[in-house]
Amino acid sequence: MTVITETGYSYISDHLFVNFLNTINGANSQVTDLLMQESGTDKWLELMYSRELLNSEQFRKLKEETFDDGAIRDFRDRGREYVLEGKHTEFISSLTGNVKQAPLYFDKHLNPVPSCGGSSGLLSLLSYKMLEAYQGSIFSKIKKCHSPDCYALFVDYNGRRKWCSMEICGNRTKARKHYAKKKE
Ligand SMILES: [Zn+2]
Repeated sequence: MTVITETGYSYISDHLFVNFLNTINGANSQVTDLLMQESGTDKWLELMYSRELLNSEQFRKLKEETFDDGAIRDFRDRGREYVLEGKHTEFISSLTGNVKQAPLYFDKHLNPVPSCGGSSGLLSLLSYKMLEAYQGSIFSKIKKCHSPDCYALFVDYNGRRKWCSMEICGNRTKARKHYAKKKE
């Protein structure tokens, strides 16, 4: 688990777009925005590639152009607000617009690859993945970790998951409760 915390993530989701929404997180009352760090988007792409959540063709294409970190952060923040607070009701329909800006083609394994790199390519790929999740009813299963200072989102498939990571947030919460009981 230390490997994951070193990257700034409390866990890595199987969904590319969930990991994207989790590029901002809190721990011990401190907020870390991974996209605010130098080459934040590039580092995130490298992590996703190393976890096989992006294949080499997708990765290579996206890296062909530079990223406007501000535009990418703005998209992430709107996405989080939509998921968490139901704000920006136009968010889902705006995804279609992002895909149209940089249409995707499909590689031989039918993985979507954006037709250009950089910000518009990345927003197109993420938007496509989000639309897919929205249509597959994954979006409605996204929850925030129960740990109060953790911002991580995850997909709660069976309706019982509480923490992004049992090892990090689950045990931390349990330990806190345990010590609170001891104090009494
Ligand atoms: Zn958590």
